[in-house]
Amino acid sequence: MMSCKNETNSEEKMADHNSENSLLKEWTGPYEGVPAFDTMKVSDVKEAMEEGMTRGLKDIDAIANNPDPATFENTIVALESAAEDLERVYTYYGIFSSNKSSPEFRDIQTELAPKLSDYQSKISQNAKLFQRIKTVYEASQNTPLAADQQRVVDLTYKQFEMNGANLDAEKKKRYAEINKELSKLYTKFSNNVLHDEENYVTYLNKNQLGGLSSSFTKSAAKIATDKGEDDKYAITNTRSSIDPFLTYSTERDLRKIVWTNYYNRGDNADAYDNNELIADILRLRKERVGLMGYDNYAEWRLQDRMAKTPENAMKLMMAVWPAAIARVDEEVADMQAIADAEGDHLKIKPWDYRFYAEKVRQKKYDLDSDEVKQYLQLDKLTEALFYVAGRLFNYKFTPVAEGSVPVFHPDVKVWEVSDKASGKFIGLWYLDPYAREGKRSGAWATTYRSYTSYKGEKTVLASNNSNFVKPAPGESVLVSWDDATTFFHEFGHALHFFSSNVKYPTLNSGVRDYTEFQSQLLERWLSTDEVINTYLVHHDTGEPIPASLVAKIKKASKFNQGFGTTEYLASALMDMKLHMADPTHIDIDQFERETLKDLNMPEALPMRHRTPQFGHVFSGEGYATAYYGYMWADVLTADAAEAFAEAPGGFYDQQLADKLVKYLFAPRNSMDPAEAYRLFRGRDANIEALMRDRGFPLAK
Ligand SMILES: [Zn+2]
Repeated sequence: MMSCKNETNSEEKMADHNSENSLLKEWTGPYEGVPAFDTMKVSDVKEAMEEGMTRGLKDIDAIANNPDPATFENTIVALESAAEDLERVYTYYGIFSSNKSSPEFRDIQTELAPKLSDYQSKISQNAKLFQRIKTVYEASQNTPLAADQQRVVDLTYKQFEMNGANLDAEKKKRYAEINKELSKLYTKFSNNVLHDEENYVTYLNKNQLGGLSSSFTKSAAKIATDKGEDDKYAITNTRSSIDPFLTYSTERDLRKIVWTNYYNRGDNADAYDNNELIADILRLRKERVGLMGYDNYAEWRLQDRMAKTPENAMKLMMAVWPAAIARVDEEVADMQAIADAEGDHLKIKPWDYRFYAEKVRQKKYDLDSDEVKQYLQLDKLTEALFYVAGRLFNYKFTPVAEGSVPVFHPDVKVWEVSDKASGKFIGLWYLDPYAREGKRSGAWATTYRSYTSYKGEKTVLASNNSNFVKPAPGESVLVSWDDATTFFHEFGHALHFFSSNVKYPTLNSGVRDYTEFQSQLLERWLSTDEVINTYLVHHDTGEPIPASLVAKIKKASKFNQGFGTTEYLASALMDMKLHMADPTHIDIDQFERETLKDLNMPEALPMRHRTPQFGHVFSGEGYATAYYGYMWADVLTADAAEAFAEAPGGFYDQQLADKLVKYLFAPRNSMDPAEAYRLFRGRDANIEALMRDRGFPLAK
């Protein structure tokens, strides 16, 4: 085996001498060129990425060293089209990392990660380049450019400025030191949480399995055996393990142990405790944004988000908070009643919440998820997506001839997307539906090529990816309501890609508290009558899903919203408050306790992510002061959905659909999201629709 592999490698190397690495090549074939997924090789990745970076930096240097005075064309437009070769390689890199991973690829990934980060730094710290961007930006402040050009200049300048490009040499040095220090702390933070997840395992014996399902105990037995504990059952210290255990186990003392282990991750006053580390992170973040003149990290972070200021984000969260904690009181009362009726003699504690909530769910909502599944077939759902896209976006989906477009796995199917009226070709939609080894879990959407028009109109190559279990030939794939919702959600991202009408690549970029809104909104069409009656049909009988079952599904969506909203908001509020506070002498444990007390946090449940384990916020910067964004997008979603519910034509109202495409989808980031929303709705979004969605009373 080994020698075989080596032979192949040397053959490939020989070939490389004579021709360009295949991953760097221009795309050829139909539809203005498509990725050569059928011939891509993991052994080409490293060389192609390195060569792509070299070429990218050459492009950047050419812009930075241009002897002509800086103009929009020779600086901003040139920057927009820099590093196109690397972008093509990234498409293959993305497939190898998400759809077709392997140990071989992961080694390459590990080797490339620091090189990619260096590559980014070389661009963001290129002083000559920034000087030219700044020249164009400052000129545009006196003589504004066309709206979309101005937006590109503003976004580009802001991105460099926010990353310290404007600082003097001494401050830049400190800035870089802080970032280096932070990156070490982030890694240490994650490793500490990981340590506590791996080292607090609760082992059960066979007399302690009360309430647990046989599939759960089977996998718990396997994990215990793998850990060298025969005849035992392991509850590992992760959410996927503790969630079902706390929901079903009848062993209250064990529930308490499992719960305590989980919520104390990173907070065990030992070598893996994160409290001091978090204080250091907060101090460094504040110092870094202080170099640029900002009062606090939250203010710096939110300036280019839809919320714009921490105060706006706080205002939204605090508007929902009282109703959420009031609902918790009601939920606890419901649970307490069941506990009392069953003679359990206890007061509901946090480790009892999921257990009694499940009893309430069975009693109050009586929804059989298996019954729902019989009406949710993947093929029919795919047809439903096309129907919705046809009604709202005027798109037509036609399968391409088998073999005409290269795919990276035979299960991947491809459709042509065109305009129903004009027949104009818009792009290709790739669907990779099934789970397989080497494919990451969950569902996602991505693009291989995005729409832009600054160098002639480009067509879109977009894909959706899921992890449904592949059926036996001739069988239909039946999915859960949650999975069907996710299928619609990800298709919303694809429609957002297809409908783009922006001129420049930067205008396709996302705004963290806004980009999930479009996809969340599309979920709402799953439960429209048109979809229900035609596509949600029984896989044997062809009968549409009964109205009574749909009503149950809708009612159940309000279940446990007190718990869900409160545990989420407590974390989101903590994220924001930690970054607005003065961290000089902060004691994290005390800060968390006092903040929760001030908020009147209910005693019956914890934050979803307690501070010492809040990886979104402290294992990197991706979600620092951004955790509120889920609710921000949810407010828009609920409010926009009500616009459709109230329209004369309902969810298929033609006029409103036109506005949806024109203002909420097509512009992407070419206009301010708040302004775009106002053009769609005629006003700003308010939170009332979200409150109704969650079954919360409106404040008077
Ligand atoms: Zn999404």
